[in-house]
Amino acid sequence: MRPPICAVCHDRFATKEGGLVRFADYEPLPERVVGHPKGLEWFCGKHHAAAEALSHLATTEALRRIRRKPTARR
Ligand SMILES: [Zn+2]
Repeated sequence: MRPPICAVCHDRFATKEGGLVRFADYEPLPERVVGHPKGLEWFCGKHHAAAEALSHLATTEALRRIRRKPTARR
């Protein structure tokens, strides 16, 4: 498992502020294999909600859409 670094902005964050999102191309690691599974990414507090909303997509497509979105839409 990778440390919590946001897949969108590459900021390292405290895990209570963000979290992991499992995408459509998620593949669990085989038993006893150490590493980071495909399709599972960390997101900071700013990007976590957007990532969850796109979790029905494959990772690369979801990331592309989040990066394309203008930030701070409130
Ligand atoms: Zn982020």
